[in-house]
Amino acid sequence: MLTANLTYQWLGPVIFVSAGVAFLLLHSHDRKQLSALRLAGAYFLSLIGFMAVMLVDEGSHPFFQSITLVSLVSGHFLLVWGVASLLEQKFPRLLFGSALLIVSGIIIYANLASSPFLLKYTAVCGFIIMVALICSRLVWRARNHRVDIVIAAVFLAQALVTLNRIVQMHLSELDLSTRSAFKSSHFASSMQTENAIFAIVIGLALFARYSVTLVMRLSRLAETDPLTGLFNRRAFEARVPAMRAASTPLPSGLIICDIDHFKAVNDTHGHDVGDTVLKTVAQLLENVAGESAICARLGGEEFCILLPESNGEMTRLMAARLRVAIEMQQLVSSGRKFGLTASFGYCELAPEDDLQLAMARADAAVYMAKHDGRNLVRLAAVATAYPEPERIQDLMVGELEYQS
Ligand code: GH3
Ligand code: MG
Ligand code: MG
Repeated sequence: MLTANLTYQWLGPVIFVSAGVAFLLLHSHDRKQLSALRLAGAYFLSLIGFMAVMLVDEGSHPFFQSITLVSLVSGHFLLVWGVASLLEQKFPRLLFGSALLIVSGIIIYANLASSPFLLKYTAVCGFIIMVALICSRLVWRARNHRVDIVIAAVFLAQALVTLNRIVQMHLSELDLSTRSAFKSSHFASSMQTENAIFAIVIGLALFARYSVTLVMRLSRLAETDPLTGLFNRRAFEARVPAMRAASTPLPSGLIICDIDHFKAVNDTHGHDVGDTVLKTVAQLLENVAGESAICARLGGEEFCILLPESNGEMTRLMAARLRVAIEMQQLVSSGRKFGLTASFGYCELAPEDDLQLAMARADAAVYMAKHDGRNLVRLAAVATAYPEPERIQDLMVGELEYQS
């Protein structure tokens, strides 16, 4: 009943098993990667279907035919689910359900009408084509990296190659009305080769997608302040040039703020409450400054905001709004309410201005606000005509004098 020419049929199964094991390992390394588990399932189920199609003879027990169909359908279901969850998309229920309905209808009809093997085979290949197109469309619509374009193209190529095979079979002079006739034809070997190639190319492309996701996650972590979720100083400085360029020829607004007497918050209410205060202030700054602004935590209890297309007066008004918002914010510790204030420094940032120097000037203005009594907004001193590194040094020395 089982006829296996192993040398000829090794390639496909080895690839299916290797890819399945690779996705399983990926999942065991990071249990949150459920998409990897689904893709591993897709490869193992496809292996069963693949083996059954090639090894089981015609006239075999309907049980084997059912296994072939069930593993084929559930394997492709897991493939679509895995791809959808990898790209954080919803499972395309309507499209997959329609594809399933069409292929089921044709196969039931073919069985009842005792149609030739070619019709059933066409129905199964039609299902594979539809699934490949669904995956291609899904990846294309959700693409946010170049590797997604490659994945979408690979699925599209699979659909086209499978379609071409079906057309060639229908145009062929060969009698393909039985399974054994098909198995002895060159179409069977080309199907095996194509399936093996696509199994490995799709597996590699999806693996590349995991690497890209991981790199994107790591770089997001490296850019984010873990406590507040705001950008850190490095990410702020890296993002500002693009925003300033987009604002050109208009200036941008730079605001730096520092919470007043924050050490006292820690001393009175404890470090955990201090952390909560920092998170609350960060949230408040983001909400009030709006989506177009870049907010960052420079360190400790010091924050920085860049406003696009904002002149000095607009920047001053925003700093004043932020100051009032913090002043109005009620905080609670052990059932007791307490308030908070912050001091602000700001300046207008013309397209040609140096960011480091502007930050040093705004920082110096914060210390001016502290010096003048806190809970105030102060304009940064005008930059010298020729901003030299020594000027930054002077401003830093100025800050130290205010601190002492
Ligand atoms: P000023 O009004 O002059 O700014 O006084 P201040 O107390 O706010 O400033 P100071 O620089 O003296 O103290 C800052 C404090 O911020 C000291 C440090 O322990 C605290 N701090 C820095 N980072 C964190 C943090 O991540 N969590 C908590 N809870 N406290 C922090
Ligand atoms: Mg402070
Ligand atoms: Mg400080």
